[in-house]
Amino acid sequence: MNKSKKKIKLNRSSVLILTVCVLLFLVMGLITYIKVSELMLEQSKQSGMNLAQTIAAEIDGDEMNRVYAKTDPGYQTILNILNKYRYYTYVKYIYTMRLEDKANLTFVVDGDPDDPADCGEAYTLLDDMLPAFSGEACCDMQVSTDAWGSYYSAYAPVLCKDGSVAGIVGVDIGVDYINSYLKKLMFSLAAICISFAVITVGLYMLFSIELTGKDVLTGLYTYETLVKKGNSLKKHGELVGRTAVLVNIKGFKYINRQYGYDFGNELLKALAKFLREGLIQGEMIARTGNDNFCILVMNERSAAYIARLKQTNPTSIDAAMPDGLPAPVRCGVYTIKEDDTMEQVMGICTVVMNVARNRKKEDIVYYSRETYENILEEGDLLTSYKQAIRNGEFKVFYQPKVDITTNTLCGAEALVRWQKEDRFISPGQFIPLLENEGLITELDFYVFETVCNDIRLWKNQGLTPVPISSNFSKLHLGNPDFAEEIVKTADKWQTEHKYLAVEMTESSGYSDMEALTAFVEQMNKTGIRVNMDDFGTGYSSLSLLGDVEMDTIKIDKSFVDRIFGEKESGANLVSSVIRLIHDMDREVICEGVETIEQVNFLKNTECKLVQGYFFDKPLEHSEFTERLQHPVYER
Ligand code: C2E
Ligand code: CA
Ligand code: CA
Repeated sequence: MNKSKKKIKLNRSSVLILTVCVLLFLVMGLITYIKVSELMLEQSKQSGMNLAQTIAAEIDGDEMNRVYAKTDPGYQTILNILNKYRYYTYVKYIYTMRLEDKANLTFVVDGDPDDPADCGEAYTLLDDMLPAFSGEACCDMQVSTDAWGSYYSAYAPVLCKDGSVAGIVGVDIGVDYINSYLKKLMFSLAAICISFAVITVGLYMLFSIELTGKDVLTGLYTYETLVKKGNSLKKHGELVGRTAVLVNIKGFKYINRQYGYDFGNELLKALAKFLREGLIQGEMIARTGNDNFCILVMNERSAAYIARLKQTNPTSIDAAMPDGLPAPVRCGVYTIKEDDTMEQVMGICTVVMNVARNRKKEDIVYYSRETYENILEEGDLLTSYKQAIRNGEFKVFYQPKVDITTNTLCGAEALVRWQKEDRFISPGQFIPLLENEGLITELDFYVFETVCNDIRLWKNQGLTPVPISSNFSKLHLGNPDFAEEIVKTADKWQTEHKYLAVEMTESSGYSDMEALTAFVEQMNKTGIRVNMDDFGTGYSSLSLLGDVEMDTIKIDKSFVDRIFGEKESGANLVSSVIRLIHDMDREVICEGVETIEQVNFLKNTECKLVQGYFFDKPLEHSEFTERLQHPVYER
């Protein structure tokens, strides 16, 4: 449904993964925060102690021992040293202290310019300071906070020349910068976590319909939900008693292309609404993919439900919007049996719906054992086809063409049969299949090569061959080298061109027509003739004869059957058409001729050439060889 946008597929597990990621991120963020703050503090403490030691090393302990008042000579020297470091970043206070006795701590020089403590002013001795008095730099373990901010204190001993401790240098290092840094870090981490969480929740909400098992566009159940619900009905013995209807929009691809994807989406929504409105409680509907809808209706209501689909089928897509059933639909219908699982029901419905897709005339196909088995057999045929060519399972039969003025064999049509084990499968069964799958072209050339080879064999046997036409699918017209490949094949088997002909049905589309005209022109130069097959069916038109230079026109059996058909005008029509073709200087051959009356009638209309059961059915190679030996029909 999306033109170019790729839809993000979000399911339960991906949302779970995303949520776990957010949580993990949160935890990691928290750990990072704690670790970083610890590290910063640790580093800061270390540098505080280093600074205290540096300052202490500059102060002469013996001099400090002599300072007891601001007027003492050493006081200014020490103050100068302290002032030197006072403006270091993050330094809040610097001071020196001494122990008067074991318990009394006093300031010696206080570096605080605003409110200096007096020399000798008492201060509480803290346990954290004790290591410094024993000669070791140290730091208190916790951050203190006062009116000027947060800080911690580092201490280092001031030593005398003899190594004794004169006092200590204290440095208060502010940690407000760490706090503000940590705050920023915390905000960024929180912002990332919150955005993550918002995205997850948003996505979750956006796709929550999907997570609840519903289709985003139509709000109907998805295929998976239908299967789940169906199987749970089965568990309670309630699946049986229902009919599954698989509905598909005819030509949805075309609708999308012609009217645009938005229109396509609107159509799907409108159809979903229409289909749902026909249901009663306990019945179910799902959009099982693209333009497919599966409905489980109660058996007794299925006929009415399907009739409703038929009734409102519009004639044109434009007329359909916005009321009524907005699209022409086809469907496969299956009455659910006792042991069926929902998966099996869906499988069968799909097969049956595809029958409706292939049979252009039937839009509603009901499951029958026979139809179903045929379809499965078709599947079988397709899968075994390639191997069958290699195994030589395809046999070429020859149906004679007879000149009825002399009752003599004058040509033949090569018709393929598939000999699968003991039975012959008729081309009507597999040719349309192979054509649908685009596999027919290989088989056509296989038949053509067999024809070339057989003609050579007959010549080698001293027989006079007759021109043999091979059927080629219209699909070949898409191949620009088609004509060339035919000639190459003929020459490979050294078959004279006059013994060969190509049968093609006329084309419906204009682009095909161009290709057909070009192909016939090319072939006419090679001496291999092209016959127009099945004239009088489908899209045939007399005007086409003027455009394409095919020298033989094969009139289809359905047309020949009109001679003695229900309408009296039938015979006139056939003779007029034959005359017209003759007037255009083309040869006519009638196929499917079964009775002497038909032969006589054709003789009178001067149609010389005839193919049909009246003379011969398609013959096996050996039978046709005999016919070549006895080319005159004794009738
Ligand atoms: P077609 O080309 O129109 O071939 C004529 C069909 O009419 C043949 O059916 C033939 O057996 C049948 N027929 C001939 N005379 C009579 C008659 O008097 N009465 C009746 N009721 N039927 C008659 P067949 O052999 O089953 O072939 C069916 C179609 O399969 C062919 O129709 C042709 O379209 C296709 N086909 C056969 N062989 C090939 C092939 O090698 N390549 C391609 N592309 N198509 C082939
Ligand atoms: Ca034919
Ligand atoms: Ca034909």
